[in-house]
Amino acid sequence: MSNDSLDIGIRYIKGVGETREKLMIKLGIRTLRDLVGYFPRAYEDRTVIKDIGSLIIGESVCVRAMAADTPRLSHIRKGLDLVKLRAVDEHGSLEITFYNQPFVKDAIKKGDTYIFYGKISGSLLRPEMSNPVFEKELSLTHTGRIIPIYPLTAGLSQKMLMNAVRSGLDKCADELPDVLPDNIVRQYELCRARYAYENIHFPADMKELDIARRRLIFEELFVLVTAMKLLREKRVDKTGRSLTIPDFDEFYAMFPFEPTGAQKRAITEASQDMASSRPMNRLIQGDVGSGKTLIAAACCWMTWRSDSQSAFMAPTEILARQHYNSLSGLLEPLGMRVGLLTGSMTAKGKRETYERLNLGEIDLIIGTHALISESVGFKDLALVITDEQHRFGVNQRSMLTEKGDSPHVLVMSATPIPRTLALIIYGDLDVSIVDEMPPGRQKIQTHVVDENYRKRVYDFIRKLVGEGRQVYVICPMVEEDDTFKSVKEYYETLSTKIFPDLRVELVHGKMPSKKKDAAMSAFADGEADILVATTVVEVGVDVHNAALIIIENADRFGLSQLHQLRGRVGRGEHESHCILFQTGVDVVKRTVPLTHKTDEPSPCLARLNVMKSTNDGFKIAEEDLRLRGPGDFFGSRQHGLPEMHIANFATDMLVLNQAQNAAENLLREDPELSSPKNRKLLEQIGRLFEINADKMN
Ligand code: ADP
Ligand code: MG
Repeated sequence: MSNDSLDIGIRYIKGVGETREKLMIKLGIRTLRDLVGYFPRAYEDRTVIKDIGSLIIGESVCVRAMAADTPRLSHIRKGLDLVKLRAVDEHGSLEITFYNQPFVKDAIKKGDTYIFYGKISGSLLRPEMSNPVFEKELSLTHTGRIIPIYPLTAGLSQKMLMNAVRSGLDKCADELPDVLPDNIVRQYELCRARYAYENIHFPADMKELDIARRRLIFEELFVLVTAMKLLREKRVDKTGRSLTIPDFDEFYAMFPFEPTGAQKRAITEASQDMASSRPMNRLIQGDVGSGKTLIAAACCWMTWRSDSQSAFMAPTEILARQHYNSLSGLLEPLGMRVGLLTGSMTAKGKRETYERLNLGEIDLIIGTHALISESVGFKDLALVITDEQHRFGVNQRSMLTEKGDSPHVLVMSATPIPRTLALIIYGDLDVSIVDEMPPGRQKIQTHVVDENYRKRVYDFIRKLVGEGRQVYVICPMVEEDDTFKSVKEYYETLSTKIFPDLRVELVHGKMPSKKKDAAMSAFADGEADILVATTVVEVGVDVHNAALIIIENADRFGLSQLHQLRGRVGRGEHESHCILFQTGVDVVKRTVPLTHKTDEPSPCLARLNVMKSTNDGFKIAEEDLRLRGPGDFFGSRQHGLPEMHIANFATDMLVLNQAQNAAENLLREDPELSSPKNRKLLEQIGRLFEINADKMN
């Protein structure tokens, strides 16, 4: 791979020693390429230098002033040292205080003039500034200009990082990779890579910053969409298997309820796809509880009526079993043979299932990714359904379809993915949106509380259980961790100390699946009052009698995930509640839109309040995407998309459209990106998706 000089370690950068290298690696910066690609999260406009006579209280500004006296160091108490001095210009004087920075005493000399940057407090008659950034009047690296603000880690200061980036940029001068083809740069009026990198870090003014940002956002989105288009399986011109559309009224008659209009619409759309001569490629997107299972069942039934097999893949064992239970309950009475295949089955059980699948003795197989194992073969696989596809790896997705002869594909998602992101992840899928809830659903009452409410919350649990309801208690993780409640420990406390008289069960991801299932089934069958769980109950789990869900450390979760969790209750006729315990620690990494401000309020409370204000999964998803960016959207990159450094899918829609058009045009000209002029782009795609570019064609 070329551009070797960009791949050198940061140790070779001026001013970066062993200690700083370690700290920077914590931030994900290992190479020169990482360093120059480590973009500021915000900027401070320090271009305006004001005189002391025109200060405004509360404003952050630069002041040019002379140190009127020698700084005085006073030791107030252990852990509190103050350095104070007075600075003056011809219009007035400014009281300056440094907290716990004793070295400042010797850094500022009486009679010298400095630029101080900081927030003005005190009063207009006696203005003050605390802990300002300062430097000698003539140096102007940290004041008198727009200053980048980087995300930091303890031990690494803005100054250190800024200096490292400066040296890094100087070092790689003309070797910055310009991955965009020339004609695209011209057509979309973008600036050159060199200009963009320079000005994203050290813009002379806001206009230059905007030009740089636009180029880098375009580039990031362009590389992503080009990659997704390139990697997607090609489905053009394949002939599908045209199945016969049955009379669905016969099917609907099986249910104690009338399907919703949205369910019927989705079934009609899917059945028309399956009857056409092109393979179906459809996404069924509907909020939790909208009744997607019924739609899947209808498609499987249609496939069976045409004497073919269906496969249904779910992301976890628990979900696979639950789908198996509900689908076999629905379809076996109609004469279908439904099977289950999961990793935890005995070798003998698996072998038998393989055999029956091969012979066509199973009409619908439900399973985990055990279904893509090499040993699995079908007699005649005509329909593949994947639940929550974004939780499977990009390469796992097509492996099941390859077991059939261009089978129809149905993807179901309860994660209401904003349309922009859906387009990127799912490409050119047709979409059916299930935007209607089965009747009789009540709005789930959501409350955001802190520790002071704990006793009341426990009383509330007791009251509901007394009325015969069941309760979920969700904890973020299994590992011991002193800041966050370990689920096991918490379970012990709840079951032995707080509710010794109630039936409490525990389920978490690290349990053997037999125990997991036993606990889940106990809860589902009403044999447990409280289920303490990690997020394994996140999607799909369906217990109508559960009317309360408590989420501990709710700040730990993304909004969409909270919404999924909340969807575990309110599935029956009982009034339901969701209580979010807030710890006040904002641990979620945010993609902050660039601003001139530095004092942003903690968005943590605002985030949780979104949950209170709406039950609409799409709205929540948009908000989540806006606050966190797609990298975190599904948690731990389960969607297989690389992390975005600068683009924001929610706010950069316009650029995304342009990037999509550009990618389409380019791939029309050069479908495999084999032309030498697209070499750099191909390499960049390889790096992002960790694929060797030479192997891609
Ligand atoms: P999803 O998978 O979309 O989250 P499910 O398919 O699990 O939702 O359905 C949620 C619940 O609603 C199930 O208990 C199901 O039996 C019930 N249900 C589905 N469709 C209807 C309907 N049209 N009317 C009433 N209840 C329904
Ligand atoms: Mg479901």
